[in-house]
Amino acid sequence: MPPTDDNRRGFLKTLGLGLLASAAGVRAEMNPAVTEHHWTWTRVGADETPDQLRRRFAEIGAAGVHSLVLGGADEAVCALAAAEGLDVHAWWWTLCRGDQTLLTEHPEWYVVSRDGRSACDDPPYVGYYHFLCPTRPDVRRHLREKLSETLAIDGLAGACLDYIRFPDVILPRALWSKYDLVQHEELPRFDFCYCEVCREAFKALEGRDPLELPDPPADAAWRRFRWDAVTRLVNELAALAREQGKMISASVFPSPTIARQLVRQDWPAWDLDAVLPMVYHSFYEEPVSWIEGAVAAGVKALPVDRPLYAALYLPALKGAGEFEAAVARARAGGAAGVALFGGVRTIPGA
Ligand SMILES: [Zn+2]
Repeated sequence: MPPTDDNRRGFLKTLGLGLLASAAGVRAEMNPAVTEHHWTWTRVGADETPDQLRRRFAEIGAAGVHSLVLGGADEAVCALAAAEGLDVHAWWWTLCRGDQTLLTEHPEWYVVSRDGRSACDDPPYVGYYHFLCPTRPDVRRHLREKLSETLAIDGLAGACLDYIRFPDVILPRALWSKYDLVQHEELPRFDFCYCEVCREAFKALEGRDPLELPDPPADAAWRRFRWDAVTRLVNELAALAREQGKMISASVFPSPTIARQLVRQDWPAWDLDAVLPMVYHSFYEEPVSWIEGAVAAGVKALPVDRPLYAALYLPALKGAGEFEAAVARARAGGAAGVALFGGVRTIPGA
């Protein structure tokens, strides 16, 4: 359901009740030095005036949020956010890139499935799933250049990587019926990447062609090869962000195990400043209580000084009670704060 002004008020009211009340509780009950940090995704509306934006940022800040992951950030927007005490991280789609220029000029840059289909002209699941191949040096160079341009925006605190992964080889359980699929195993149509560069690189490393493996999903080295391809890209982008004095974070799948299995993200190995795992319980047909274990698994896998912010899917949380329960579960699992998705103007096209 597209957000409306009524939803927006409800969202902010919920936030105010949940985050601020909970944060006060933590301060009272625990170490007074503990400070939490909260995020939200949002977009600048096409017709939004600076005044409207300023008011919206003020409401978000008053609700207890500190950082925005923002689509459409520029210098002027960063200044408006800063005036309301918010810092801005660019919402940066990494490997899912359907720019017309790339599709036309570099069709070979896109991932190829085990059954030989390219995400350039035959993407899996949905029309926008044009994923680039992270093994290709030209792709990584292109992404470094693009990120460098984004990070050069004055006033931007950093970038939060999104779609930093392969296409889902297995979809979250709740989406199977939507796509009329049963995915108890890795199906060739959704298994990537078998492009020439990946095949050659794996052959050079392991002496085997991935297309000739007797059981590709069962091959540990082939799985690892693809985790490492994404990790190498992330770490190159992280190094670049540090050179530019900017922060780098990423939204990732909910737990390390699920992330590796579904989208080949080995995110505990990524050299980031923060991770925002999408502990969207409803996508996995799990109750709110599931959030705690997913968060705890991530915290345990990360270096001790790496903050984890639990990304919550607001449309799945019914009322202030469930929202507060989700925040409490995230906190109990060891999250340094929460990141809210699905509020006003956060969903592309909403
Ligand atoms: Zn490839």
